[in-house]
Amino acid sequence: METEQVLARLRGLGRRLTRQRSLVVEAILAGERPQSAEGIYQRCREKDRGISYPTIYRTLEMLVEAEVVRKLHFGGSKYWYEAAWQREHHHHLVCLECGAKEPIMVCPRELIAREAQRNQFKVLDHQFEILGICKDCQGR
Ligand SMILES: [Zn+2]
Ligand SMILES: [Zn+2]
Repeated sequence: METEQVLARLRGLGRRLTRQRSLVVEAILAGERPQSAEGIYQRCREKDRGISYPTIYRTLEMLVEAEVVRKLHFGGSKYWYEAAWQREHHHHLVCLECGAKEPIMVCPRELIAREAQRNQFKVLDHQFEILGICKDCQGR
């Protein structure tokens, strides 16, 4: 999905789009891997020195709500953001040493569905990440 399509979708949801909000969308599209709010802020600041951190944060929350961005938690106090439309549903191998986040396409969704059904639980979404040490860091 291109920036224009994302913006069109947001417009369809009745979201007001300022130029600064468009910059946030562009910053997320420019990054392949999940990015922190600080990382997105830095990218946006390269284009617009006047953009503030609260604007970035509010925009990210709005994009998450509109389901065009996924908010991920890899432990710790930070959240990470990635475009919901960029890839198929996936999870990540997260290195606890260097922070590398490698997407993996496997997902035990059938197991999850079976357990949920047993508990008469309606699944809307699920999140989990696999924590460990990457190949590079194992050699250190
Ligand atoms: Zn590593
Ligand atoms: Zn999954």
